[in-house]
Amino acid sequence: TEKIRIAIAGYGNLGRGTEAAVAQSADMTLTGIYTRRDPSGVQPLDAAVPVRRLDDIDAHRDEIDVLILCGGSRNDLPEQGPALAARFNTVDSFDTHARIPQYFEAVDVAARAGGTVALISVGWDPGLFSLNRLFGEAILPQGETYTFWGKGLSQGHSDAVRRVPGVKAAVQYTVPSPEAIEQVRSGARPVLSTRQKHTRECFVVLQEGADADQVREAIVTMPDYFADYDTTVTFISEETLQREHSAMPHGGFVIRSGESGTGEKQVVEYSLTLESNPGFTSSVLVAYARAAHRLSRAGERGARTVFDIAPALLSPRTPEELRRDLL
Ligand code: NAP
Repeated sequence: TEKIRIAIAGYGNLGRGTEAAVAQSADMTLTGIYTRRDPSGVQPLDAAVPVRRLDDIDAHRDEIDVLILCGGSRNDLPEQGPALAARFNTVDSFDTHARIPQYFEAVDVAARAGGTVALISVGWDPGLFSLNRLFGEAILPQGETYTFWGKGLSQGHSDAVRRVPGVKAAVQYTVPSPEAIEQVRSGARPVLSTRQKHTRECFVVLQEGADADQVREAIVTMPDYFADYDTTVTFISEETLQREHSAMPHGGFVIRSGESGTGEKQVVEYSLTLESNPGFTSSVLVAYARAAHRLSRAGERGARTVFDIAPALLSPRTPEELRRDLL
């Protein structure tokens, strides 16, 4: 059988992870990486993979079954998602939760007009965590769903700390509260405030001459980002930041705590411990690219989310094998 021909749009952390994940998939081949930057300045992991200008991608349409969009959710995908879904089957990891309905609409219109399949908001949250929230609610309608994140590096909160005057460089970790998780696992179904669920840890390199107390105060009182949390700020050197805080770990838990109709407590937990957030997210994107290809082959059109995709479509194995070995 012919391999699924994958291409990548945007080559950052997810782009690199996607290249590596395709290399692990025997039924796929990577036909190109497309970037807005000068291609000569972009080095793929495998030097044999062609790097081209995103503006030239239409000339390579017949080499691409599925285009995996690895741009950022804030600035890149709102524009690239609909534009590229009009011409290619796509998979993306759009993660601005509040804007998913609008984004879905825009991509759906483009994909229907173009006769393509576009899987949006694929990854772990949104993505695998969303599926587990759905399972929890559907199976245990009497109950509560809890999502905890971390311990993990939050890109958005790290960016917010870096914008504080006097900060030269910084990272922020979101840490789930062990007490809160323990309570939820016990089946107690506590009502938890924002402050009780997570704490935030910042590691900051100060600019020369900056006042540490002022910087700390500006961070911990920042509305939306930190004011509702217990936040610790630790000042470190640039070398320590490089040495100890360059990885992008993340993870978390989705827990449904409920009661079945017979009255017993039932607690269901899905958990991720990720050494690299982009490494894992791109692995999810690649599995869903397989589904996008199969749906497109079957004549489907339009935008879809993880809720719409049958799990068997993610697997390279046949339905017969899946029934025999995994059911
Ligand atoms: P990133 O590394 O910042 O890359 C985003 C884009 O920036 C790339 O596509 C690339 O486009 C450009 N870029 C990368 N490196 C660059 C450089 N050195 N100079 C100039 N431009 C550069 O972002 P990421 O870590 O891959 O994350 C992408 C998105 O994934 C995030 O915004 C987040 O929303 C999403 N995400 C979703 C989940 C989920 O669970 N759903 C999980 C994690 C992340 P060009 O090649 O075209 O320049």
